[in-house]
This record gives sequence, C-alpha cells and structure tokens, in this order.
Amino acid sequence: MRPLIAGNWKMHGSMAEAAALAGAVREGAAGLPAELLVCPTFLHVASVASLLAGSAVAVGGQDCHAAAKGAHTGDVSAPMLRDAGASHVILGHSERRTDHAETDAAVRAKAEAAAAAGLVPVVCVGETEAERLAGQAEAVVARQLAESLPDGFAGTGAPAGAAGIIAYEPVWAIGTGRTPTEADIGALHGFIRERLAARFGAAGQGMRILYGGSMKPGNAKAILALPNVDGGLVGGASLVAADFLAIARAAG
Ligand code: PEP
Repeated sequence: MRPLIAGNWKMHGSMAEAAALAGAVREGAAGLPAELLVCPTFLHVASVASLLAGSAVAVGGQDCHAAAKGAHTGDVSAPMLRDAGASHVILGHSERRTDHAETDAAVRAKAEAAAAAGLVPVVCVGETEAERLAGQAEAVVARQLAESLPDGFAGTGAPAGAAGIIAYEPVWAIGTGRTPTEADIGALHGFIRERLAARFGAAGQGMRILYGGSMKPGNAKAILALPNVDGGLVGGASLVAADFLAIARAAG
C-alpha cells in the first residue's frame, strides 16, 4: 500500500502564509515515495486547492457538518468542501472531540455525509494518557472504531466510494513531542487492523491506518517502517514544508 502523509494545518496561517506553504509543498512533491494531503482551515481550502490543482498533493478539510445544507450557523458541509476542491476530510480529531464535544455517533454521521459527497473520510481515534495508564487504550480505540465508522466506511457498502482512512492518534502524543514506543505503536496498529478486518473483511486489510502524534523528520522513518503503519497524520511539522517533505521522504 502506498503511504499517505497528511498535514493537519489546524487553525494556522494567513491567506498569504497558506499559499506560500502550499506552493513550497507543491514544489517538493514530485518523486516522493508517499502520497501527500494537506488540510488547511475552511477559509483556505479553496485557494490552496486551486494552487495545488494538477499537482500530486490532495487537499482536505478538518471537519464537516453531517447535513448537506441548512440552518447551521458557522458550519461547513461536505458538499461545500468538495465544491471548493477538497477530496478528503479529517473527522473526529481529538481537538474536535474535546473542544466541540463530538461524540462517536456525531463522527459516524459526518463520515456518512463525507462519503455521500465523494470525500474520503480520515477518522481519528486514540486514547488519552489516563486511559493508556489504566490499560484501556485498546478498549477505547475499539469503541471508537465500532461507533465512529459507518458500515460503508470500507467503500464496499452504501454509500459507495473510496475506502475511508483511520488515523491512530494517542491524544497525549499530539503536540507534546512525546510518542509511544515503536512496540506500542505497532501493537495498536495491529489491533486496529484486526478490528477492521473483522468488520470489513478483505477491504479492512487494504484500508490505510495512519499514525499521528508528534511525528517529525527525526522519528518518521522508524515509525513509518512499522507493520500496519500506512502513513502519518502530521500537525506541527506539516507547517514547515521542508519538515513535511522530509517526513514524506522517510516513507520510502
Ligand atoms: C495532529 O493534531 O493531528 C497531530 C498529529 O499533531 P502533532 O503532529 O503536532 O502532534
């Protein structure tokens, strides 16, 4: 499976900064051993998508509403993201789950809406530090997978479409500079693969599982070489084009 390196730009950047970052990623994107995806703020999706049109770099949103349209002040729908040039959308990021009290059921509804609009959902799962210390990491991730993923997530059911993507992001590793041990990452990714295969069969074997949480040029090679790690979801390091591209090179 060709790895995917996805950049989550979070709430960063002016119009000019987003354009400069997109341009630098575009310039370095040729010949990399990974596919690239960048996810700017809603405000920047259309301009970044237009700058990256015809390049090897895909564009995604960081969230979407579960409804296609309607009276939802401040929200953006999946068809709107598609119309603006996005092909993917991150859903259920821990910052959304915490800051906006998003439940697994809400994430599932959003993933259904994304697939119906022709977007590939990138659904985030991962345990808090307290949950890991209590030995509950697998149980938490199992619940999130069971309840956040719609039945059509593998692209084999309704709504039909491309397979969704999982991002395993231990909450305590996001933006902290801390990462699980390679053994722990490998174990969790193997566990996620088993759950996907049990639910989606052969399609689950072929679904990408990204690792996210303080991935940097210095640790990317070792993490990306682990079995069942099919790429990365990168926050802080994706804001520096040279670092983001170095992580993508480490996937080879
Ligand atoms: C993220 O927020 O998805 C993330 C992985 O952030 P960071 O790389 O900064 O830990």
